[in-house]
Amino acid sequence: MPKRRDKGEERAIAVRRLDLLLAAARAERAGGRPELADRYGVLALAVAQKYQTGLEPRHKQQLCRKCGAVAGAETRRVRVVAGRIVTTCLRCGAVRRQPLEPRRSPPSP
Ligand SMILES: [Zn+2]
Repeated sequence: MPKRRDKGEERAIAVRRLDLLLAAARAERAGGRPELADRYGVLALAVAQKYQTGLEPRHKQQLCRKCGAVAGAETRRVRVVAGRIVTTCLRCGAVRRQPLEPRRSPPSP
């Protein structure tokens, strides 16, 4: 009988790979090879999709989820508009909006 896949372990490995790929992407961007950085970003998105890990907040901060461009001064524009942090990808134009203040928990009685 074939061995059953351990999806929890697969996902844990996938999240570690996301971290590795994004660390490598940052190193390549700093090292002057931005095309490699964006390639790693695309691969990171593919890994997250295949293993259905979703993107953790620390990944979303570094990556355009539409085109895989890795965050850097030349790939995104960050503005504060009407109480939201608006991040625009300069490669594909995707816009990400997040509230400036973290969501408040409902008042306790
Ligand atoms: Zn993009």
